[in-house]
Amino acid sequence: VAEFALIDRLAERVPTDGPGVVLSIGDDAAVLGDLGDELLVAATDTMNAGVHFLDDVSPVALGHKSLAVNLSDLAAMGARPRWALLNLSLPHADPNWLDAFADGFGALAREHEVSLVGGDTCEGAMSIGVTVLGTVPPGQALRRDGAAIGDDIYVSGNLGDAALALRERLAGRLVAEQDARALDFPEPELALGRGLRSQASACIDLSDGLLSDLGHVARQSGLAARVELERLPTSPSLAAIAEDDRFTLQLTGGEDYGLCFCAAPEREKAIRSLAAAEGTRVTRIGQIEAGAGIRCLHPDGSEWLPAASGWEHFREPRP
Ligand SMILES: [Mg+2]
Repeated sequence: VAEFALIDRLAERVPTDGPGVVLSIGDDAAVLGDLGDELLVAATDTMNAGVHFLDDVSPVALGHKSLAVNLSDLAAMGARPRWALLNLSLPHADPNWLDAFADGFGALAREHEVSLVGGDTCEGAMSIGVTVLGTVPPGQALRRDGAAIGDDIYVSGNLGDAALALRERLAGRLVAEQDARALDFPEPELALGRGLRSQASACIDLSDGLLSDLGHVARQSGLAARVELERLPTSPSLAAIAEDDRFTLQLTGGEDYGLCFCAAPEREKAIRSLAAAEGTRVTRIGQIEAGAGIRCLHPDGSEWLPAASGWEHFREPRP
């Protein structure tokens, strides 16, 4: 399949038109507008074969996840997603692979009213780069640096399911359906993020593991965080493994793609009703304190220290 046919195939399966799209795929650049009095929010993320995903992952899952991880960053900002650009590098142009990839990408794009307005396709090692553009009202973007002493810390969804699925898959063991979904088809918390604009003092999405991601919030807010391990939201498959192993997966495994946010204690009721309205579970896991760093408290009162602190590129051996 030639490059132009690739783009046509994508455009057949992914929405390319929508609000604010003046000129979409097919020219040298897209023309976009209609921001009202909102501000533009931009995020980008690349997934490389062998680093971010295994070679045998389904193209539907790759299409979904490559967009989902980007939308998750917009969710963490409280933004509404609008447009996406896709840079696709492929070793060979297999039309069946491309159609399945576009179906995964397109279904999530449709669900969140995102239009694909441009990008590039080329030959090379498999790499999927996505850029998303969204909007947020002035002064309402959620940031990492706004946490205050005494704020409660919350996470959405469960922790550790995706990390467990990846570990089991790498070991060639059977992966529970719910865990495989968490790894392959993460759902970005866009509605929750927008609802948190008026409630949260700080927010980040959970991509690298709670310790690493909450560590950014604490450091950028100039404060410390206390996490109570017995509060970590835990699925049945995680509950079935040894405690130390479970805490390591839940705190450092990464790829959860829920939101971690902070809010003043008097916001709890509003946050609970927001989560209920969005059909999302949020769990209060700790509190922001004076100082620096993160303390994880075991139910027996002792402080728990992980063997590793979360994914960092250029540091650890590859999966
Ligand atoms: Mg992020």
